[in-house]
Amino acid sequence: MVANVFSYDAEKLANRRGMRHGVILGHLAAHELGHLLLGAGSHSARGIMHVPWCHKELDVIEQGLMVFTPQQAESMRTDIRARTVVEKIDGVALAPNIMSNTRMPVPVYLAKTKSIVSGGLRRAGV
Ligand SMILES: [Zn+2]
Repeated sequence: MVANVFSYDAEKLANRRGMRHGVILGHLAAHELGHLLLGAGSHSARGIMHVPWCHKELDVIEQGLMVFTPQQAESMRTDIRARTVVEKIDGVALAPNIMSNTRMPVPVYLAKTKSIVSGGLRRAGV
């Protein structure tokens, strides 16, 4: 899955609304990251994954209150945890390789860090 954010479009929208370009661009990037982490069908009736962004949504963005719903946030945290679990097999620390859906050895300097090996991320609450 690929996500695109077009800075030119963000700038046009920001100029029409008298908003800062970076504010719109950042929210668009967050929306697209939501697609990558939540998967297909991730648009919602409210929050940052709502489309289209009309006056109401742009007002919320301008106030700095546009966020993911609590369910979306939890789903993304769960997905990120699953992608970052490191396990040790035959003494070699392995991490998920999301490009090939396999596991790959963790660099030695990371494997020696106890906190990320053998589920340390889960215990650390990441
Ligand atoms: Zn979308």
